[in-house]
Amino acid sequence: MNQKRIAIIGGGPAGLAAAELLSLSGHAVAVYDAMPTFARKFLLAGKSGLNITHSEDYARFATRFGTASTRLRPALNAFTPDDIRDWAAELGTETFVGSSGRVFPKVMKASPLLRAWLRRLEAQGTTLLTRHRWTGFAGEGYAFETPDGRSIVHCDAALLALGGASWPRLGSDAAWVPWLAERGVEINAFQPANCGFVVGWSGNFSERFAGEPVKSVNATSEAGTIPGEFVITKSGVEGSLVYAHAASLRDQLRNDGNATLTLDLAPGRTIERLSRDLAKQDSKSSFVNRLRKGAGLDGVKVALLRELVSEQERTDPERLAIRIKALPIPLVETRPIAEAISSAGGIRWSSVDEGFMLKARPGTFVAGEMLDWEAPTGGYLLTACLATGRAAALGIEDWLQRQL
Ligand SMILES: Cc1cc2nc3c(=O)[nH]c(=O)nc-3n(C[C@H](O)[C@H](O)[C@H](O)COP(=O)(O)OP(=O)(O)OC[C@H]3O[C@@H](n4cnc5c(N)ncnc54)[C@H](O)[C@@H]3O)c2cc1C
Repeated sequence: MNQKRIAIIGGGPAGLAAAELLSLSGHAVAVYDAMPTFARKFLLAGKSGLNITHSEDYARFATRFGTASTRLRPALNAFTPDDIRDWAAELGTETFVGSSGRVFPKVMKASPLLRAWLRRLEAQGTTLLTRHRWTGFAGEGYAFETPDGRSIVHCDAALLALGGASWPRLGSDAAWVPWLAERGVEINAFQPANCGFVVGWSGNFSERFAGEPVKSVNATSEAGTIPGEFVITKSGVEGSLVYAHAASLRDQLRNDGNATLTLDLAPGRTIERLSRDLAKQDSKSSFVNRLRKGAGLDGVKVALLRELVSEQERTDPERLAIRIKALPIPLVETRPIAEAISSAGGIRWSSVDEGFMLKARPGTFVAGEMLDWEAPTGGYLLTACLATGRAAALGIEDWLQRQL
């Protein structure tokens, strides 16, 4: 075979997935990462169990990427959730399907999988270089800051897999945006995705309830009604149920300047039943007791009603019942992108060809969260990063073949 030199810049899941295929084909592959170790965000994802993919019906799965679903589809078809489970198993990490359909490693962490993955890459001849920060293009080459000073790498093809803009301290700081933009690559501004929101809580409420989970509620936004749970934070709300609504709430805040997440605090009860049972309570008994006996609510749910419902409504059983079933939480703004699980925005699909090559710079490919797509939590993010990394590797192979 005709061995080529390929630089993979960014050693997160997308870059490592590409390196795996390309080194298997016998190319001279080097992976460069700015950080002292690879895939820090992947490791952090492991702290909450590493939800690596999702087991739902694949036709449904493939629609989870919003307007980018069509462009992502060929990459996803070529590396499906089942393929990911097989791939992890080959690397010694067996997975299981959790009650929500999400797929996790049985060990509920990322480090054994990452260790085995890096070992396999080295065994396939991949050169792994940490503390190599890409600082932009240098003519046809790629400039790096390294522990030994500045160096320029020349290669036959390169993949940029530099991540999005969330959690910059783990490496993906989006410093590359101007370097690509000045080469004519179109980039949509990064925005937080799967993020928390600021709520103007009173001092008393946030001090007492920050960290409290709000369980077994339904939450409604323009994204629909979704059951689940979330967490009260010092400044607002976060957690899986909030993330599920985050894209819609973020866009609403941007377009309208306001957004509310509406909670049903007692999904098992009707307004009529709540209204009847609350009316039976002694009006002299405390708010806490009336809610406990009349609605089965306590703790943080009672506190939320006290925080967000007027005194008048709280004393009227019918109006209180309506509020229990539809309690609007007014949102002020998103929490900063640095805290978000992922980012929306990135390189526009119109700037990338079917093989994930930048139209403005032939020979340079892109993959992972750098591209303009977003998805909810549930394993979709890692699946798309792995799948686009592999698809870009195939794009590189194909392009190199055509250069012969
Ligand atoms: C707290 C948290 C939990 C998460 N949990 C999950 C989960 O359970 N399931 C899921 O599907 N997703 C999860 N995600 C999201 C998932 O981790 C990311 O979508 C994924 O890691 C993105 O992969 P990537 O390869 O595109 O980029 P990254 O993982 O961000 O990797 C990019 C790499 O590029 C390097 N880099 C950046 N700039 C340069 C430069 N100039 N020079 C050299 N190297 C550079 C970085 O150091 C980094 O190693 C989670 C994210 C967070 C923050």
